[in-house]
Amino acid sequence: MLTRFAPSPTGPLHLGHAYSALTVWQVARDLGGTALLRIEDTDSTRVRPAHEAGIYEDLAWLSLTWPTPVRRQSDHYAEYDAVLEHLGDAGLIYPCSCTRRQIADAGAKPGADGLVYPGTCRHRSMADAQPGDGLRLDIAKALARIDGPLGYDETGATTSQNITDDLLLGTIGDPILRRKDTGDPAYHLACVVDDALQGITHVVRGMDLRDLTPLHVLIQALLDYPTPVYHHHPLITDADGKRLAKIDHAKALAKYRAEGLSVQDIKHMIGWRD
Ligand code: GLU
Repeated sequence: MLTRFAPSPTGPLHLGHAYSALTVWQVARDLGGTALLRIEDTDSTRVRPAHEAGIYEDLAWLSLTWPTPVRRQSDHYAEYDAVLEHLGDAGLIYPCSCTRRQIADAGAKPGADGLVYPGTCRHRSMADAQPGDGLRLDIAKALARIDGPLGYDETGATTSQNITDDLLLGTIGDPILRRKDTGDPAYHLACVVDDALQGITHVVRGMDLRDLTPLHVLIQALLDYPTPVYHHHPLITDADGKRLAKIDHAKALAKYRAEGLSVQDIKHMIGWRD
């Protein structure tokens, strides 16, 4: 049994991350397995070395330990590119130059991963890819490649989670797998590739990512990867019931630490019981 905690060093860790990390290590302990740490540093415009250093400090402070070396996604771009090439050879991806603005102006509806792409560039082929283009997965073509129904097991659920074509086409749409301009691999691609390469058997992560799991399962099926068991844990909310996120006003764990709070205090604040 192998699970992982996979933070992105785009901001300091906050209480929500502490809850997530403690859950990952608890599930590993309960199932007699191991928890890995993985650094998901593929958003080159937002990643900062200080945030990565903060992740190691905060987790060590929480007394969590992990095998080394730690996989840092930015060290492995060639591997993600090889997978993209494979999907390209299979005719499943296409170049896209659309800006967020153009996508919104085309009347795109909000979905599980931002706006559902309206398909403006879908007719384009990899042969006419231009420098700076993003790459998108053609969901309809991908679905046509898959034999049998898609689904996954969620811990605690008695039945398997079914994934319908309508769900993927209607709420996710053709996702970006390589980002425009920066050429960074997208989270969906790097995450799925790494979970398979690292032999992750259980993915433990926040409920906020649950609606994206159908896409991850589709990509696993396309690449002949096994599908892990998923456990999407509840999110920590503040006193007003608002979700704590980096983008909100969530306070960094390091700040609490600097103010003299103990790990026990943090556990108390997130309602954690060992
Ligand atoms: N890197 C993602 C995040 O920080 C988590 C990815 C995952 O656990 O699948 O939100």
